[in-house]
Amino acid sequence: MNLLLETHGSIAHLIFDRKDSSANIFDKDTLVELNQLLDAIPKSSTLTALIVYSKKANIFIAGADLKTLSTAKKDDLNELITLGQSVFNKLENLHITTIAAIHGACVGGGYELALACDYRVASDDAATRIGLPETQLGILPAWGGSTRLPALIGLSKALPLVLSGKILKAKAAKHKGLIDDICPKEHLLEFAESFTNRPKRQLPVHLLEHNPLTVALIRKQASDSLYKKTRGLYPALNKSIDVLCDSVRVSLNESLQNEKNAIQELSTSSEAKQLMRLFFASEKAKKLKLDGPQPPTLTQCAVIGSGVMGSGISYWLATRKRSVILKDINDDALAAGMKNIEKTLHTSEKKRILTATQSRAALDRITPTTHALPLLDREIVIEAATENLALKKKIFEQLSELMSPDTILATNTSALPISELSDHISHPERLVGIHFFNPVPMMKLVEVVNTPKTSKQTLAAAILFVQQIGKLPVVVQDSPGFVVNRILVPYLIRAAQLFADGIAPEQIDNAMLNFGMPMGPLRLLDEVGLDVAHHVAQTLSHAFPDHITIPTLFDELLEQGVLGKKSGEGFYIHNQGATQPNPNIQPGSSPSLSSQEIQDQLVILMSREAARCLDENIAESAADIDFAMVMGTGYAPFRGGPLRHATDTQILDRNFY
Ligand code: NAD
Repeated sequence: MNLLLETHGSIAHLIFDRKDSSANIFDKDTLVELNQLLDAIPKSSTLTALIVYSKKANIFIAGADLKTLSTAKKDDLNELITLGQSVFNKLENLHITTIAAIHGACVGGGYELALACDYRVASDDAATRIGLPETQLGILPAWGGSTRLPALIGLSKALPLVLSGKILKAKAAKHKGLIDDICPKEHLLEFAESFTNRPKRQLPVHLLEHNPLTVALIRKQASDSLYKKTRGLYPALNKSIDVLCDSVRVSLNESLQNEKNAIQELSTSSEAKQLMRLFFASEKAKKLKLDGPQPPTLTQCAVIGSGVMGSGISYWLATRKRSVILKDINDDALAAGMKNIEKTLHTSEKKRILTATQSRAALDRITPTTHALPLLDREIVIEAATENLALKKKIFEQLSELMSPDTILATNTSALPISELSDHISHPERLVGIHFFNPVPMMKLVEVVNTPKTSKQTLAAAILFVQQIGKLPVVVQDSPGFVVNRILVPYLIRAAQLFADGIAPEQIDNAMLNFGMPMGPLRLLDEVGLDVAHHVAQTLSHAFPDHITIPTLFDELLEQGVLGKKSGEGFYIHNQGATQPNPNIQPGSSPSLSSQEIQDQLVILMSREAARCLDENIAESAADIDFAMVMGTGYAPFRGGPLRHATDTQILDRNFY
């Protein structure tokens, strides 16, 4: 039993409470049960309303059972979609007023159920999240969501929500019209009851917005802007535009049929398969746990170095309720770091990610210092000082003296061999790499780097720490560049070599945008900084001289002070957001390559380096390497990662899965 039907006077309660689980999800059995309970609702005139809610602590309904959905055969999928659509129709057509009382995650099928109710109220709790994220998985809402959302809030508001798959907090969901009202969690049921004497809802007409001319315009604008962003590489997004735009001019049944046809087609696409695999990989990373005792929760932190990364990490830790001592060598560097943190807090307030109170509290949790403070009470120290092995050795030598022997010592180095720091500390088993990516607030991946001397407890504590601050860990072994930079940086410098050989920067970048990378490699080099990339490339070419060579172009550019965006020019001139190829640096004059040839060269290079990482056991599996590349670099997610792509296309004549 996953559901309960109770009658309280004139109001029926339909309660979701999946057996032996902390979450409610929709599978076939639950839909069948829901169908039966809806049939069992008395037809008597004394019953006036139905309230739907969940008994789970933090979940209303988390959507469809993705395991079933991702493996369902065509007929089974057809049956599941038809069943869901007909049950939700039955809910919509009940003779009494229906209210969804939402607390916790209400996503995908969960929100489609809520959409079939007359009214939706939600708790204003942080756990409440509402939306239709299906397109992120390469499919689309097909239990009526693609039809009922535009009918409720209008096509122009519904389309961006479905295309982005955005999950909204309760307040934002109310603002967009996804729900009717919010209230404190404690009063949710009472609040829902106050809706029970309302009549069944009449949907708004959206006369202007849904007239054929406006719909044609919305469709065209959405398609054009989608093409600019995705180059047509995500079929679910194109299909969603069609289904949602058509939904406002055809009958409910026709639109439900469109939803069904679309999901049938999409769910067997390779894009949906890869995106679902990535979803499962994210879930695995969230739950990753080593055998052994539960590691402690680390709340007292220190961050060494308040540059780009140190300030980003401090911001992130402080907003996750960690106390942070932030240390740098001089007042100017520290002030710059604090300014960066304040700026990020301010942006988060403006974007309503944080309230003013949360932002102030986060700032209060950071203690900036240039002094050698006693750090005995710190449970974890993250070193994010300048990328220089000699300097880091010195820092760890000092830290080793200032810390308690229990403190976890972590370095955020991008590529340096962490093991070489082990000799400089009294407890090398406490040393681990915790490699965040830039910009820290945006990038969810963290490489947790194991060294031969890292103890299992330290590794387990680092994994839990990363999970508890809301990032996704992937465990990698200590080797120059670990996984992500080891694969990314050779790709970037090969792109620079292609430029040096005579290929225009836009042609190189376009070739990789067409492959599905979020940014072309030369634009990315400009963003990262040519000096920073060069530094990592040096470490890698020193470690792997047989196949990683740095183009001489780098020395020439660095000598001229051409560092990329931060110096105003790199492969492009950067002028207040606008970019154009840099006329001051001339590419060479070798024979040109077609875009396909450029793409082939760069793609195979990433796959080859990824294969080396796997062969050298730097990550546990091909899936970990692929996951790290997608999450750490934006490697075309719908292709699944460099090893999945190599397996699917046989570019290396090998299977990695
Ligand atoms: P950065 O140059 O912006 O900042 C380094 C900071 O360290 C400076 O403020 C400097 O004053 C400070 N510092 C130098 N010596 C110190 C000492 N002895 N004690 C305390 N502070 C000291 O560098 P960054 O980009 O923030 O990189 C920091 C680390 O993170 C490096 O190891 C880098 O490889 C790594 N990393 C960088 C990126 C990136 O994209 N920038 C991404 C991931 C990891």
